[in-house]
Amino acid sequence: MGWADYLDTHQSRFVEELCEFIRIPSVSAKPENAGDVRDAGQWVVDRLVSAGMENVQLMDTAGHPVVCADWLRAGPDAPTILIYGHFDVQPAEPFELWTSPPFEPTIRGDRIYGRGATDDKGAMLIPILAAEALLAETGKLPVNVRFFFEGQEEIGSPDLPPFIEANLDRLQADMIFSADGSQWDTETPQLVLGLKGLTSLEITVQGAKSDLHSGLHGGGVANPAMALAQLLASMKSPDGRITIDGFYDDVVDLTDEDREAIAKVPWDEAAYLAQTGAPSTLGEPGFTTRENLWARPTLEVNGLTSGWQGQGTKTVLPAVASAKITCRLVANQNPEAVFDLIAAHVDAHCPPGVTAEVARNPGRADPFLVPAGHNATAVAGQVLEEVYGKAPYKTRVGGSIPVMSTLLDELGLHAVMFAFGHEDENQHAPDEFFRLPTFRRGQTAYARLMERLGE
Ligand SMILES: [Zn+2]
Repeated sequence: MGWADYLDTHQSRFVEELCEFIRIPSVSAKPENAGDVRDAGQWVVDRLVSAGMENVQLMDTAGHPVVCADWLRAGPDAPTILIYGHFDVQPAEPFELWTSPPFEPTIRGDRIYGRGATDDKGAMLIPILAAEALLAETGKLPVNVRFFFEGQEEIGSPDLPPFIEANLDRLQADMIFSADGSQWDTETPQLVLGLKGLTSLEITVQGAKSDLHSGLHGGGVANPAMALAQLLASMKSPDGRITIDGFYDDVVDLTDEDREAIAKVPWDEAAYLAQTGAPSTLGEPGFTTRENLWARPTLEVNGLTSGWQGQGTKTVLPAVASAKITCRLVANQNPEAVFDLIAAHVDAHCPPGVTAEVARNPGRADPFLVPAGHNATAVAGQVLEEVYGKAPYKTRVGGSIPVMSTLLDELGLHAVMFAFGHEDENQHAPDEFFRLPTFRRGQTAYARLMERLGE
């Protein structure tokens, strides 16, 4: 027998175990479920122990606990990999929209339904099962393995950075693989190479000390709403290019190779327009829509407030106007530096007759870009190609995944998303499910990954 047979033979037990794991309502956002999050962590501890892992430990943070484990007997010449995932889940409300109750896992067809089925309980169980199979069949693992599972991903991992900083010795590795994430679709694997960062701010333009009568004072003093509109218009040209001095200076340009890789991913502009309902696309000139979505920075007005917002007319000359703005950033832009550039722009371009202030809003993230030639990514790509019979798409994400930048900051490693969910599996929504064939395929992929890395 080999590990593949072991996985086949034990598959129904693994599915039973996944059901058991899903039954624990480890909702990190709800204080009343804190005990359940801990129970889920303890379940992971027990499961790692029964898989043959060592130094398995439920460890406290200022909030929900984390689980660390390792198996480090592959020797000093073998690489050490760190596998990340999370055992907490999103709240399941509204319960009435679920076909079967969220914490009573139910199999319908080849899918298992329940909160956390794909995000991330099913997906994080996969590498544990692969390690168990390898260990059971060969008595060893081809690489040194560390597991690091957290219980607060769904609330933004607030206590993770200090935990990592204080426990670097338990997390030292040559490569990180994240068991949280997704493949492109059931037929096509993907390697996620980039994530956008974020900076958030608010511009407040002040004119008179209070709202004024537009007949008595219009033409006498400046209108902050108009001044704000002029200020905003000075930040972006109508063709979509951001016109803030220095905004693009730190952007890593797309290489020809990057652009070819992005062009290989199917894109249907008409379908995109139908999906969004917008009359046409608009992004930075010189780039395709997908390049703009994935690999170019943006500046968006998220909200505008000034003057009379009620029905009908009020002849008011507002005292204040404000705009909430976020920029999605790409490597190597820095959220604080971009904020400073915008503040300097507002200073330099503030129209006469008003004052303007720029303040930070909550929400910041560093951009993330896997460097070219990144070894772990290359090996992951080969394994995905073997398992799917198709080369992975090289994709990027317009949003941010804070834990990826935390791992990069604290451990200096670009994590590779090697995870087997799919975006249509109702993550964070009612009727979340995981595909059982993918659950099995992911186990093969992780076993092969470890073998390949140990060669
Ligand atoms: Zn997740």
